[in-house]
Amino acid sequence: MTHKLVTPLFLIFFFIFSTLYHAVLSDDQSNKTEEASPPPPSPFDFLKNLLGSQKGQNVKGVKELKEYLKRFGYLNHDQSSSNYLNTNNNNEGGGGDDDFDEQTESAIRKFQQNYNLTVTGSVDSKTVSKMMMPRCGVPDKMNGNNAGFHLDYKFYDGNPKWPPSKSTLTYGFLNGTPRQGVYAIRKSLQDSASVSHFTFKYTEDYANADLKFSFQKRYHKDNNPFDGPGGVYAHAWAPPIGAVHFDSEERWTLGKFPHSIDLYTISLHEIGHALGLQHSTVQAAVMYPYVGAGEVKNLQDDDIEGIRALYTL
Ligand SMILES: [Zn+2]
Ligand SMILES: [Zn+2]
Repeated sequence: MTHKLVTPLFLIFFFIFSTLYHAVLSDDQSNKTEEASPPPPSPFDFLKNLLGSQKGQNVKGVKELKEYLKRFGYLNHDQSSSNYLNTNNNNEGGGGDDDFDEQTESAIRKFQQNYNLTVTGSVDSKTVSKMMMPRCGVPDKMNGNNAGFHLDYKFYDGNPKWPPSKSTLTYGFLNGTPRQGVYAIRKSLQDSASVSHFTFKYTEDYANADLKFSFQKRYHKDNNPFDGPGGVYAHAWAPPIGAVHFDSEERWTLGKFPHSIDLYTISLHEIGHALGLQHSTVQAAVMYPYVGAGEVKNLQDDDIEGIRALYTL
């Protein structure tokens, strides 16, 4: 009797186990396929073609490389305006040709120094990998050689900030702002308020809000056009302008998803600019300008110490 009962029970267990096992396995395989799938095309893809290039060469794509280095603060960049984004119609490239000249090499060296990479002056694989990551459109500011230090928060030249009398800032959304954008921005504002003296108050009067949030596409009348999916994901202006633009063509999400950008993380970053913080080279910091695929961050010591130092809290 016992023997006759054991066999069907065994079969039932075997069936359940194998079904579960295959369910787990196939789930695992689909995740692997997702992770292994190539990233979607990016405006920074031209950099792949430049791997190994160095001074003295003429390689197709060096023109775009010079434009990249100029745009992000490493080559002939005009940092005279306090917000560092383009304020005039001069969107000319860095050199206009594909010659990898001395200035280009020097700009690559600056970039490598700022990101704590081996300073070679050539377009090596680590430099290409860093440069190809999606990033903020605000140019970087170099502060000597602080790369790799625990704290590296920075301010804009002249330390523009909201006046002490203005600890309540109003914020508004341009009509048509996606719902998940509103949610992520509100959460970021709450978390920024919790580490500073600021309170943020919603206003329907978008045009007169201190902080103006909008999703924009390609050319949008501020001389800093967005570039479609990948590449630059957002940009913002320092006080007292306080405008924050997100590239509406990015794959925005809330949370960690492959090949997507977390709206909360980027909102925190851009609000940092709108309060007066510049880019940090501390990789864990919210104010680090590059974002890894599916990366989600919360405010770090570097960000919090930065805002407290700027407003002497
Ligand atoms: Zn930024
Ligand atoms: Zn813009």
